[in-house]
Parts: sequence; C-alpha cells; structure tokens
Amino acid sequence: MKQAKHLACLLPFVLCLAALELSPPANAAETPGVLTGGVYYIRNYGSSKYLNVHAGVDADGVNVYQYQGYPVAQQQFHVAYEPASDSYLIFAMSSYTGTNRVLDIVRIGGSIISGCNVDLYSRVDFSAQRWKIVALGGSKFKVVPSANTGIALTSFGTQNGTNTGTSPTSAGNVFLDNCSGSGTANQQWEFIPVPSSNPYASMGWTFMYANPSLHSSISSGYKRYDRVDHNGIDVVRRSGGIFGVSLLSVSSGTVKKAAYNSSSGNHVVIDTSVFDPNGPQGNTMWVRYLHMDQIAANLYENGTVTAGQIIGTTGYTGNDSPPGIDGTHLHFDVNNGQYMYGPPAISTINPQRFWPGVLVRHTSPIN
Ligand SMILES: [Zn+2]
Repeated sequence: MKQAKHLACLLPFVLCLAALELSPPANAAETPGVLTGGVYYIRNYGSSKYLNVHAGVDADGVNVYQYQGYPVAQQQFHVAYEPASDSYLIFAMSSYTGTNRVLDIVRIGGSIISGCNVDLYSRVDFSAQRWKIVALGGSKFKVVPSANTGIALTSFGTQNGTNTGTSPTSAGNVFLDNCSGSGTANQQWEFIPVPSSNPYASMGWTFMYANPSLHSSISSGYKRYDRVDHNGIDVVRRSGGIFGVSLLSVSSGTVKKAAYNSSSGNHVVIDTSVFDPNGPQGNTMWVRYLHMDQIAANLYENGTVTAGQIIGTTGYTGNDSPPGIDGTHLHFDVNNGQYMYGPPAISTINPQRFWPGVLVRHTSPIN
C-alpha cells in the first residue's frame, strides 16, 4: 500500500524532469519506486515470505533464503545504486556496521547462470554482486544479475528456507532461475520501506553540503574492503569536481580544532556535544572535515558553531591526491569522542548512517 502511494507521488516529478532536462538526469537509470539509499524488506510475491540472511550471521557464504517476516536486521537490506556500472548493490543490514557484506551469487564453474545459489559475501567479486532491479508494474520488481539478465532472483516454494538448503529445489531457498518477461510469482519481489530505527538518522543532522542532490557521491567509503583503516568517507560531487563548495556544520557544537597540518590539510574538528547512542563509553560525537580549501574566518578553537553554519570550503590541502574529480574531496568522519589525529583509539561511526537517504552514490566500487 505504502509502495503504491509512493509511486504515485513520484510520477509527476519524473514527468517534470523529462520535460525540463535536455540530457537525462543523473539518476535516469535508477529504478523508480526503489529509492537508492533506502532500507527495505524484500518480500516475495509468490510466497509472501521475506528475503532473509541466515540468523543474521555476518560471514562469507552464509545462505540467504526466504523466511516468514520479522522486523529484524537480517531481513532488511540497504539498496545502493552504483552509476558507473548502472547497477545496484544490496547490503544486508545485519552486516552494515563494518563489514558491509552484500547479496552475492555463488558461481557455478565460474559462471553466473540458472541454478546459482545466492548468499552473503564480502565485496570481492563485483560482477557477481551487481544487480538490476526491474519494475514490473504495481509494487512488483524482479531482481536480476547485471552479468546475466536472463535469470532472476527466485524463491522455491512457500516454506521457510535453511542455511544448508542451498540447491534450487531446497525448500524456501533463494537462487537464480531462468526468467522471461515478468517471470513467475516466485520471481517477483516487493520492496517495503523499513521505518527508520537508526538512532543516527533520527538525529536530524544537517548534511554537510547545501545541495545534497548534487554533492553526495562517495569516492572512498567507510572501511571499504581494500582500505579497512579508512574511518570516514570521501565525499565528491555526483558528476564533475567539487572544489570551493561551502561546507556546513552538521550539528551545533564546539570547535576543537581549526588549523592546517601536512596530513589533514586545512581541517576543522567539532565536538557536537551529542552522545553517541551506541557508544560504549558514552562519549560525545566529534566530527572532522579534512583537506579543506578555506576555513571560515569566524571559526576559532573553543568557539561555538550552529548547525548549518558555513565552516569553510572543499579543497585538496594536506595529504591528498592532485585536484580532479576525486582528488578534490571532503574527508568526513565521526567518532565517539576526542579523536583528532592518527589511528583512532576509540570507535568511529559510518557517516552514512546519519543520512541514509543521501550518501549513497559511489564513483568507485562500494565498500
Ligand atoms: Zn578519506
């Protein structure tokens, strides 16, 4: 019901874009009705059961099958569109705090073909982890591998699956099967938005750019698979460069640092004075902006800032790549207290959790 209403609301917007834009909008290839960055329950139309990561286990090779619905993270998936490959990554929310495992195809003899099982895996096999989400009308979608669009995500029967039932005829298993047109009912899925229970998202922090629809790609993600010590996100423009764009304070707080050094470049560190809801030490959250071009003249250490206040502009100072589409970027991170430089001694938080509907596009493979 919710989904249908949402589609109806979106339609005038899409028509409007089509009329105004001479070239297709940047998100032309995204699937209407599935909001990139959204978190969804994915329900099978044939069985009315839900896509489910076995027991919410966060490990490579854990089976994904259908199961009766429960409001739990193992049935919640974060959908992220990757423009470079015109495909989606489907992240398990039960694996979202650090390892970021995704829906993955178990190849048969190296191939992505009918009969392949679907499991949870780290981001190590991109072509077996990229999906097309195809609208079938109404609230139904099929989910097909980018590498082979003649097969689709399919559940077997109406039973609950198991971790060991990994064949195409295992009760309740989810696998890939030949699919033509809209497929069978067991190849049709509904994406049901998960009401936000993310304590960070509900804080209502200001996005760090005034125009998030333009400035919200990530060129290097939080603890990405090939850069696990990267404790923040590198934010770039969705297309083109981002030099000199005003940076906003995401929260009110106290300026702990507004200075230059050879590593961080011009940087600003703010104590938001807000406690980390998941922080074991109950520390307040500090945010850091690195590699800035300018620092606003009215910022000084131990001074205060308000949410949305301009604190400077984007640049490429310090230990950064040469200027360019990805060279000029904002490194932004959040930690639960008193982290200024070097390897953090305390825990960091994936900044994407603060803006789950915004920070979703990646110009390089997603972590
Ligand atoms: Zn960075």
